[in-house]
Amino acid sequence: MSYADFYRRSIEAPEAFWAEQAKLIDWQTPPQQILDDSRAPFVRWFAGGTTNLCHNAVDRHLVERADQPALIAVSTETGTEKVYSFRDLHAEVRRVAASLAALGVGQGDRVLIYMPMIAEAAFAMLACARLGAVHCVVFGGFASGSLASRIEDAEPTVVVSADAGSRGGKVIAYKPLLDEAIRLSKHKPAAVLLFDRGLAPMDLADGRDHLAAALMEKHRDTEVPCVWLDATDISYTIYTSGTTGRPKGVQRDVGGYAVALAASMKHIFDGNAGETYFSTSDIGWVVGHSYIVYGPLIAGMATIMYEGLPTQGLDRQPNGGIWWQLVEKYKVTVMFSAPTAVRVLKKQDPALLKKYDLSSLRALFLAGEPLDEPTARWISDGLGVPIIDNYWQTESGWPILTVANGVERTPSRFGSPGIPMYGYKVKILHESTGEELTGANEKGVVVIEGPTPPGFMQTVWKDDERFVNTYWKSVPNKLVYSTFDWGIRDEDGYYYILGRTDDVINVAGHRLGTREIEESISGHAKVAEVAVVGVADALKGQVAMAFVVPRDGAVLGDSQAALALEGEVMKQVADQLGALARPSRVHFVGILPKTRSGKLLRRAIQAVCEGRDPGDLTTIEDPTALQQIRQSLASQT
Ligand code: ATP
Ligand code: MG
Repeated sequence: MSYADFYRRSIEAPEAFWAEQAKLIDWQTPPQQILDDSRAPFVRWFAGGTTNLCHNAVDRHLVERADQPALIAVSTETGTEKVYSFRDLHAEVRRVAASLAALGVGQGDRVLIYMPMIAEAAFAMLACARLGAVHCVVFGGFASGSLASRIEDAEPTVVVSADAGSRGGKVIAYKPLLDEAIRLSKHKPAAVLLFDRGLAPMDLADGRDHLAAALMEKHRDTEVPCVWLDATDISYTIYTSGTTGRPKGVQRDVGGYAVALAASMKHIFDGNAGETYFSTSDIGWVVGHSYIVYGPLIAGMATIMYEGLPTQGLDRQPNGGIWWQLVEKYKVTVMFSAPTAVRVLKKQDPALLKKYDLSSLRALFLAGEPLDEPTARWISDGLGVPIIDNYWQTESGWPILTVANGVERTPSRFGSPGIPMYGYKVKILHESTGEELTGANEKGVVVIEGPTPPGFMQTVWKDDERFVNTYWKSVPNKLVYSTFDWGIRDEDGYYYILGRTDDVINVAGHRLGTREIEESISGHAKVAEVAVVGVADALKGQVAMAFVVPRDGAVLGDSQAALALEGEVMKQVADQLGALARPSRVHFVGILPKTRSGKLLRRAIQAVCEGRDPGDLTTIEDPTALQQIRQSLASQT
């Protein structure tokens, strides 16, 4: 079938289409009603059906592949590597489930998971799924304040954590951060389950804190059956990364999510049972939920969980080829990473891409932020496999725009994440009139018309009103889901994401997208990376200010060279986009402030430029980046 027909069917006959996809998973009771959108924009998929995510990810594979690898835990931080078969995984998940049950966790209860990238984190997630408890994974990089607000919002019965994480050889003790977060939070969990890796000492609170090893040993052989849940029950909540605004608990269902992931593994990622999947993300992000834990396992694939930097080997010596070494060793067929990780690798010797046998690898998927053409070309040339950009959000749970090579081979286009995936009615609307823009290359807000497909968020946790008001009411006169991203569609139907709608600046009454200015600047041969923000200006309302990481670090210490490059950059923008878009200043820095998931912290940069408090910075990759912004402002004004 051509992809065009496949897509059309998903839109014109969604019930028949998704009824067929639903066969990709096991049901205890088959769905009675495929689609119920009588209370739009809320959608209920597969109502009446009962199933379980843990059963689909683990138990059902015991029949055919009990001894095949299921989870491969690699840590270049501790220099450890362990392969769990589906049988092993089943046993571990059962033990954690029994331990949680012993601490009082039952169906519908929340369990907050604050863990490093170790196998036990996946066991805990799957154990929750097994019990019908709602997991809420909080990224291990968050500090007490952010963790506390999430504990308060999720109201967990139990928190699962570990003694410590490790990053670049530096041990980060989690327990004191967790203790402080629980102290700050109005809600107190009844119990804390702790995995001790032997990295940092832990003070245990009497009656509250329990060591997982002891409880799991006690429940070594306790049977814990999967609880059959309604398809529309809640599987988990996850907070959006918070590069914009107050965090929201994105809530997801059970049946729709399982079907969406199973379908995406087949049609988009083209991964097969018995093969190995390697996603370099973190379980704290949605990619980690969908494509480290649930997606690959539902498909019967082994999944690699990787703790560590992309530049260190298992012997804990510098090794910029570690990921490719793992691809060779575990015969990885599908890999998933982010543009920011590729940019890190770009600084390594390109020969490392040729050093290992990568013949098993069929494609590298990249998501999370715009994939610029030079980065895409560099990695594509180096690996010699298709690089597949995919655009989605925490809210969607699986790709919105990409290509579905599992349905029909479709060429990718540099700079474009691709075309709408089946089930997604993607439209481009005029931001203020709400009118649909159907012409080629007309710029507007990327929206999704309901009913949203399986896997998409059900609502905002505990706040239906916020869900409707935030996402569905932003375009006048229309009930459509806004992605809050700008985009265009070319004459062949490929979409291009031009940045976030709140990244617009207003210069003397003219609205300019900071992404477009960044695009123009990053095209300059001497520019490695750039961030553009709007800064308040008494005269013009706002002006664009650029922060550039020069390719040649010498520019940083050479005011003459900096001035010359600033002039060149300004001229380039003026030539390409017009004088209005020309940044008022171009500052040079060594690094840009980003979140640990690689997203530019534009809001924080903007705040610093305007002399305001940059806000919650607990996800920042390197705090010295903001200092550099401050210094560059001080020295170049
Ligand atoms: P928050 O919603 O809290 O501000 P966030 O939007 O950064 O956080 P995510 O859901 O992880 O959290 O990111 C989704 C956003 O990332 C998209 O809306 C888009 O702006 C950007 N994005 C993701 N993938 C791509 C891609 N392939 N190309 C361009 N942009 C992308
Ligand atoms: Mg977002």
